[in-house]
Amino acid sequence: MKNFDVYPLLPITPVRAAGALLWDAEGQEYLDLYGGHAVISIGHSHPHYVARIQEQVAALGFYSNSVHIPIQEAYAAALGRASGLEDYALFLCNSGAEANENALKLASFATGKAGHIAFTGGFHGRTAGAVVLTDNPGIIAPSNQRADAHILPYGDLEAVERCLQTESIASILIEAIQGVGGIHVASDAFLLGLGRLAKTYGAKLILDEVQAGFGRSGKFFAYQWVEGLEPDLVSIAKGMGNGFPIGGVLVHPDIQAKHGMLGTTFGGNHLACAAGLAVLEVMEEEKLVAQAQSSGDYLLEALSGIPGIQEVRGRGLMIGIDCEQEASKVRSELIHKHRIFTGSAKGKFTIRLLPPLNIKINQLSSFIEAFRNVLGEPAAEMVISK
Ligand SMILES: *Cc1c(COP(=O)(O)O)cnc(C)c1O
Repeated sequence: MKNFDVYPLLPITPVRAAGALLWDAEGQEYLDLYGGHAVISIGHSHPHYVARIQEQVAALGFYSNSVHIPIQEAYAAALGRASGLEDYALFLCNSGAEANENALKLASFATGKAGHIAFTGGFHGRTAGAVVLTDNPGIIAPSNQRADAHILPYGDLEAVERCLQTESIASILIEAIQGVGGIHVASDAFLLGLGRLAKTYGAKLILDEVQAGFGRSGKFFAYQWVEGLEPDLVSIAKGMGNGFPIGGVLVHPDIQAKHGMLGTTFGGNHLACAAGLAVLEVMEEEKLVAQAQSSGDYLLEALSGIPGIQEVRGRGLMIGIDCEQEASKVRSELIHKHRIFTGSAKGKFTIRLLPPLNIKINQLSSFIEAFRNVLGEPAAEMVISK
């Protein structure tokens, strides 16, 4: 058997990693400004994280939710403290798409309605419900039902209100900062307007914090840049486990759980909670939310002076750069000549930076130097290949 071929591959094979660095089998070193799709939050193979996981798997790695799982309660309490959402309840699952599926389902249960609103440029995952709310027709299979999905222009409150007036809408699903779409930050007025409209028309507001959450934007959740916004549901994953598969939904106390509403075999198991707790402990110990903000400010400032860039967007360590040349060429040069990994995005000219939150300033400044060098030279042929 071979693996089903689904992604174009980067031209190196990492076998070892620490912090923001990766090494291949020959010992060649690479700087990781991508974190494998924004997943690596506290750095690769952080010693505290490794120790926590090793201890837990040796003691009890897994039992399902048919028993009391003390570390799951400890995790929920720690997440409540870290995020400030102490009065929300937590449902744990295994991925971002699954988090959104469960959030959509809860919104539908809570309202008795079937429709959902999402936005252009949005990405919410590849499962049946999440994919039809993702603005990418190319990944929607014929069996995924689009009838209840309404994809409206990101930023257009009037379109949202018209849809709420004419359709039966359970939820409004939005990324406060779009990730895959190319790092677009929603305006405060738009997000607050959605909160107001959701209340007026009896829909639930779901913040998809799968990519922007867990400190990446310089606040624990990206929507927390907006004062007075109170989501009904928040979906989380990616940076939450630093590579261990774990996701979840934070549920506002107005939405009550009933037995049988949701369920999962793996979600919230002992090992996943140990990985998640280790992430929160390191984030607190190393003050990583504040560090993401200050490192992001440094990057935004340093990038603003570089010729060959059309626009820089973002908050904290979630940065989108529109280059004048094609992003694939720039990324390829960064890997081959400077051994630096960056991410792609929806736009042909857009590069995404999503490094570990504790990346060192000298690592960021070496990227800035390399980036200047790459943009200052004529573009080479694209060598990122399948
Ligand atoms: C990656 C992502 C998802 C899907 O997460 P998976 O773990 O890949 O299922 C959902 N929403 C956003 C905003 C994402 O970036």
